[in-house]
Amino acid sequence: MLKQNLENVESAIQAACARSSRARTDVTLIAVSKTKPIEMLREIYDAGVRDFGENKVQEICDKYDKLPSDIRWHMIGHLQRNKVKYIIDKVCMIHSVDSYRLAEEINIQAKKHQLVMPVLLEINIAGEQTKFGVSKADALLLAEEVSHLDSIRVKGLMAVAPYVEDPEENRKYFQEIRQLAVDIQRKNIDNIDIHALSIGMTGDYAVAIEEGATMVRVGTGIFGERDYSKK
Ligand SMILES: *Cc1c(COP(=O)(O)O)cnc(C)c1O
Repeated sequence: MLKQNLENVESAIQAACARSSRARTDVTLIAVSKTKPIEMLREIYDAGVRDFGENKVQEICDKYDKLPSDIRWHMIGHLQRNKVKYIIDKVCMIHSVDSYRLAEEINIQAKKHQLVMPVLLEINIAGEQTKFGVSKADALLLAEEVSHLDSIRVKGLMAVAPYVEDPEENRKYFQEIRQLAVDIQRKNIDNIDIHALSIGMTGDYAVAIEEGATMVRVGTGIFGERDYSKK
């Protein structure tokens, strides 16, 4: 069943790439496996997926040891500074950098492990009170500040668009975040290469790809609805 879900998502990604004259290889599908058991991740792994997204430090640590080491784990959720140390050597990218203080801690921990951590700046693209991320207005300043940290590389921007019935409603937000990325890139800040756009979830990833997503984070569309009751 999961394999069929994955095939449906894959077809939709290919169709969106074709509509927007983009290469399929420009878009990374991240399977968002939060709350899902190891067996389900294994099934998707066996079907060929290597990029998995989680939003909790504890869950990454638990799953990390139980699954093959060639998985690329993406931290996509809000990250507390005191927990950075637990995942710094486990994840391939942190999508949710939304403050200089968090970036500083990532820098310290990355240095300890002699690695350079690729990160995305999380933008609160619709200015929603309930969401994390910096405002569009503060994004450039954060990018400039973070550029001075030598064990971090800013690779792009990430956003969680509003929950909508009709994905077309989010098109304008995806266009705005792409424009923001272009504006920041034009400043030619040292150490910063803003080309990744982590936008698009189950409800709107096709529109996100049409608007330039390089990473889509799909949970429900692959693994089914999440059940938070039996935790
Ligand atoms: C849960 C989550 C997703 C996946 O959401 P779906 O709607 O299930 O695809 C994507 N991004 C983030 C940051 C999430 O927390």
